[in-house]
Amino acid sequence: METLSAGVAVVGAGPAGMTAAGRAASSGADVLLLEGGDKPGRKLVLTGRKRCNLTNTLPLDEFLQAYGRNGRFLRNAYSRFFSAELAAFLSEIGVDTARERGGRIYPVRGGAEGVRMALRTYAESTGTRIRLNRRVRRLTRKDDGTFLLGGDVFRVKAVRVILATGGASWPQTGSRGDGYALARSLGHTVETLHPALVPLRCAEGFLPRLKGLRLRNVRLSYCRRGKKRSEFFGEVHFTDFGISGPAVFPASGEIGELAAKGPLEVKVNLKPALERSTLEARLLREFSAGGAEALSTVLERLLPRQLVPVFLERAGATAGAPAAETPRATRKSILSLLQAFPLTVTGTLPLERGMVTAGGVRLTEVDPATMESRIVPGLYFCGELLDIDGTTGGFNLQAAFSTGTLAGEAAGRGQYP
Ligand SMILES: Cc1cc2nc3c(=O)[nH]c(=O)nc-3n(C[C@H](O)[C@H](O)[C@H](O)COP(=O)(O)OP(=O)(O)OC[C@H]3O[C@@H](n4cnc5c(N)ncnc54)[C@H](O)[C@@H]3O)c2cc1C
Repeated sequence: METLSAGVAVVGAGPAGMTAAGRAASSGADVLLLEGGDKPGRKLVLTGRKRCNLTNTLPLDEFLQAYGRNGRFLRNAYSRFFSAELAAFLSEIGVDTARERGGRIYPVRGGAEGVRMALRTYAESTGTRIRLNRRVRRLTRKDDGTFLLGGDVFRVKAVRVILATGGASWPQTGSRGDGYALARSLGHTVETLHPALVPLRCAEGFLPRLKGLRLRNVRLSYCRRGKKRSEFFGEVHFTDFGISGPAVFPASGEIGELAAKGPLEVKVNLKPALERSTLEARLLREFSAGGAEALSTVLERLLPRQLVPVFLERAGATAGAPAAETPRATRKSILSLLQAFPLTVTGTLPLERGMVTAGGVRLTEVDPATMESRIVPGLYFCGELLDIDGTTGGFNLQAAFSTGTLAGEAAGRGQYP
């Protein structure tokens, strides 16, 4: 059995943990970073399709809205360490960043792998000792206020502990939800976990025929509680079981919750830029210009070819009928379908398949200025383990970096016996 000791033990070498470790060591603490896997940052290297969408240029108030009602917990952290501070920090450690479409910030070169390497080098340069293949399974607090961490072949005595174990999604990256059990074992409450930024399951039998189809510039909408309509613009991707993609992910957490109570109808507006009257005039024009051409051929000018047969079946139209002879009722149902192609959501893929985990360590039990537990002095939390999840666009990594910075600085300060 290997026995180690540390001023600050950080559990988990993702972006939150590596940042926290470096910050704590820079504040003068003797820091040990324990990583369960054989490499740090296994999830980090997958982010942004391996390009790593680090953060976003949105101003603070809009930025916080990307996390829903729990966003306000981050106000304190972001007043100290926000996107500009993150860009400056990354530049110091050799990662230059640039703004791309939608205000998304990416590394200029090196992608997600470059960010992982820079963070590791940074943590090591501060004196942090990194131990790989050290999965922490037990955490106890002794009467003198210090901590004991245990794994299969090691134990660690630490004055302070930072839990940075991530969420419970994509467990193959090492984020298996261990931190929730560790937090619970010391008396913390964990809000119910559910997947966010996750593909949706739909009931329609035709889905396998649409597999691989990507609809660009469409609008997804659904009715939420109180009949208020939510709308998301962007891409919808079809799979053989349902839908995913940029227009689906931001809504997927809420849609999943609603669909858990019963099937939920979502609608895809395939031509959101056109008013109904304009679209109807266009249809009339196309159909009469099409003459004896098959209706399906004419519709291929308006829709991706893969969608047309399914679309016409749903509209009750005959694919081979001459376009110019399309009955009025059929034209009306084509028009309605173009503006509101319905899909019945029955649920989401499981937690493991969400890009992030919603739920986590209850925020009222954590001091937003320091990330220290309000229940267990000397214990800190950061990153996705907290009950915070943001939409796509760099919000989850910014949260990991900012909460990691605060936790590291706070844990690194102070007296060590
Ligand atoms: C495919 C994909 C793409 C994404 N793209 C983006 C993006 O572009 N932008 C964005 O903002 N967000 C993105 N995210 C979300 C983002 O990756 C996470 O929110 C972020 O990595 C959370 O950081 P973290 O440090 O809290 O946790 P993690 O990155 O999950 O790291 C936790 C670490 O803790 C280790 N660990 C866990 N349990 C233990 C234990 N018991 N003992 C020791 N070590 C342990 C794990 O092995 C892991 O290394 C993406 C997620 C996925 C899955």
